[in-house]
Amino acid sequence: MAKKYVYFFEEGSAKMKDLLGGKGANLCEMKRIGLPVPEGFVITTEACKEFFEKNDFPEGLWEEVLRAMAELERRTGKKFGGEDNPLLVSVRSGAPISMPGMMDTILNLGLNDKTVEGLAKATNNPRFAYDSYRRLIQMFGNVVLGIEHNEFEDVLDKIKKKYNAKQDVDLDVNALKEVVKEFKKVIEKHGKNFPQDPYEQLRMAIRAVFESWNNERAIVYRRINNIPDDMGTAVNIVTMVFGNMGNDSATGVAFTRNPSTGEKELYGEYLVNAQGEDVVAGIRTPKPVSELANEMPEVYDQLKNIAEILEKHYRDMQDIEFTIERRKLYILQTRTGKRTAKAAVKIAVDMVNEGLITKEEAILRVEPRHIDTLLHPSVDPKAEKVVIGKGLNASPGAAVGKIVFDPDRAVELAEKGEDVILVRPETTPDDIHGMAAAKGILTSRGGMTSHAAVVARAMGKPAVVGCEEIKIDLKTGKMFARGKVYKEGDIITIDGTSGEVYDGKVPLIMPEIGGELDILLHWADEIRKLGVRANADTPEQAKKAREFGAEGIGLARTEHMFFGEDRLPIMQEMIMARDEKERRAALNKLLPMQREDFVEFFRVMEGYPVIIRLLDPPLHEFLPSREELRDEIEELKYKLKEAKSPKEIDEIMEKINEKKKILSVVNNLHEFNPMLGFRGCRLGIIYPEIYEMQVRAIIQAAAQVKKEGREIYPEIMIPLVGHVNELRILREKLERVAKEEMEKEGVEIKYMFGTMIEVPRAALTADEIAEVAEFFSFGTNDLTQMTFGFSRDDAEAKFLRKYVEMGILPEDPFKSVDRKGVGKLMKMCIELGRKTRPDLEVGICGEQGGDPNTIEFCHIIGLNYVSCSPYRVPIARLAAAQAAVKHKKEE
Ligand code: PEP
Ligand code: MG
Repeated sequence: MAKKYVYFFEEGSAKMKDLLGGKGANLCEMKRIGLPVPEGFVITTEACKEFFEKNDFPEGLWEEVLRAMAELERRTGKKFGGEDNPLLVSVRSGAPISMPGMMDTILNLGLNDKTVEGLAKATNNPRFAYDSYRRLIQMFGNVVLGIEHNEFEDVLDKIKKKYNAKQDVDLDVNALKEVVKEFKKVIEKHGKNFPQDPYEQLRMAIRAVFESWNNERAIVYRRINNIPDDMGTAVNIVTMVFGNMGNDSATGVAFTRNPSTGEKELYGEYLVNAQGEDVVAGIRTPKPVSELANEMPEVYDQLKNIAEILEKHYRDMQDIEFTIERRKLYILQTRTGKRTAKAAVKIAVDMVNEGLITKEEAILRVEPRHIDTLLHPSVDPKAEKVVIGKGLNASPGAAVGKIVFDPDRAVELAEKGEDVILVRPETTPDDIHGMAAAKGILTSRGGMTSHAAVVARAMGKPAVVGCEEIKIDLKTGKMFARGKVYKEGDIITIDGTSGEVYDGKVPLIMPEIGGELDILLHWADEIRKLGVRANADTPEQAKKAREFGAEGIGLARTEHMFFGEDRLPIMQEMIMARDEKERRAALNKLLPMQREDFVEFFRVMEGYPVIIRLLDPPLHEFLPSREELRDEIEELKYKLKEAKSPKEIDEIMEKINEKKKILSVVNNLHEFNPMLGFRGCRLGIIYPEIYEMQVRAIIQAAAQVKKEGREIYPEIMIPLVGHVNELRILREKLERVAKEEMEKEGVEIKYMFGTMIEVPRAALTADEIAEVAEFFSFGTNDLTQMTFGFSRDDAEAKFLRKYVEMGILPEDPFKSVDRKGVGKLMKMCIELGRKTRPDLEVGICGEQGGDPNTIEFCHIIGLNYVSCSPYRVPIARLAAAQAAVKHKKEE
């Protein structure tokens, strides 16, 4: 039996998307359930694939098309190429996976110099007939014959000018006849002809739609969206129906629910006496669909009824295209409607309550990343904006404020009630107070795990980082962006969700967390297997994390507690100490402060686990940079020359000596690769008194809070371990300290002792490490850095973004875990670790822990929890539930 390439709408169904494409399958489905779709048929994706194999129609295809056309003629009572009341068709592409606007469509096929007259007579509307004809020639010329669109537009403009017509619709029939003539000349100029034979038109059009599968933009779209190249497109041949046959005709688009609010109402717009593209082109202002209830009540009721049928049938909000031809309603397309985050959440929850879908389905209906937009102010999409730069979207949300280059100045202005944006080449721990005071942060250097990015996310503050095209000159206090110079006080807007920076003040939309989001997230909590914790360094952040539903702290970076104004000088004293005695003296001053931090922390997190990581960064981060110190010394020397009294000279000399002392320590600490250097547990081993102080503070705080009658679950975590012996030495020493403190306090504190897995060697020897560690937490920032050998601070801006653009890497591995490499290490690590210690608790606290794709992977390989910045906790809750639903069957 010959192969079947052609399906009439009544022969297919929604299940046949692969063979009939999305549009075709849905047209079939609508026909099947008795909805008014125009007559038509679909040429299969199979035919398209075979077309590409031999660069010609597969055998038998054309004959089948001819038979189908004859059947269409029989059903409509019109003749294709007939000189009175001719049959016209549209030829539309339709891939199995929607690729909006990527491929081609041709309308009004079947018109020629003779049939156009027939159409004019049959519709009693010559203007409409010639307008349809010129549209066909234009579309055919462009899509099939490959002539630039603007060559036709130029002609149209010229004729419009000649007749003083402002818009296309102002052209009368004679002008349109002239347009037709001139359009044909454009085609002839290219040595081609507009075919008068409708079947020739049809054959060429089908061929062109097949070929559009491989046009440049379709290929790029598939690459970006991971759509396989070998699916092919179906071709839909649909009888034309006309919404432009007079005031009892119309065309429009309707959503079964409001796509921006999610409200259950028929929503959309339509244009009377118009064709589809007029709605899109915005030539006239369409009317809201509710108007139709007054204009054509019976058609409105029918549309409303069909919308309900379609929504119940597809069990999702639908986006419907319709045409009314002389009061008769036709549905031309239905598909799942795009919606805002807010609408997505509301529709999902409402549909569960209406009994239309299950909670699991509702969970899958909301894109976790979109939840972000519900928790932060966002840029008004309707606002006009002037982009002055694009960097990395490091921390979501938008902010408007005055440019400030100096963190102290940011605090000063913020205290006066000004909104400021802190603009720096990059930020360091010294800038924290300025970052806290600012509404948003913009840097020209750094990646997704740069200081600015990490801190901004933890603070829930919008940030754009690594915006390299913006040049910042701190010396002169200027910022250069796209040819414009900005100075302190000039207003900009940053969008940390898109990474864009705008000139001036762009209006923002404030977040509203409705009850529905809360309901959906609680469903997610019932379903997910992964725990969700937060990375938080301060009790305030921990509070936020609890509000967002975190079930513990996965990472408290204690170093951030040392950057406070009252602490940094003592920390520096500790680093500058000449011997252990001096060091201990400084640490003793830090201990009560650290204890107070932990007390607050434990109180906020009562009943939940709190992982406290001991000091990690290289010590130089707590001291000024070499450059800064050298500049300061130079400045002091200059002042020395101008000094007027011996007292002044003495004072300046003392300052110079002080700075020189610091400089020599900084010089000593200098390393070529500080991130691979003297940090993490290496510090804790060489200067054991630092970790000892921290453990004392933890146990003392825990004892205090326990005496208040609160349950607490501290977990002490060691960073950057690569060899089990590192951990062994530290555990022995620190357990002794903990015991001592417990005895002093007279309370027993149950705590766990564990390690980060950040060094590949730790992952490779996890069986040994698990002998000493009671829990693991993947520090995927460092683990990615060391597995790839990419610097986490520089790689993104220097080459990683390019790598992703070039397709060398599918994604930035600092944003989403590289499953094949880093992920393999993680998987192996868990297996080895649990062989030694079956109840080993394993989590992740690197930045990827809040990324939905990473969360899915963590679910698959059996982590106990993920930990991310407080503002990403709701996203993680949803993503973890989605992973559980998606992988339910496999388990
Ligand atoms: C990590 O390396 O993934 C981590 C969480 O630690 P930090 O970012 O503080 O180095
Ligand atoms: Mg780390």
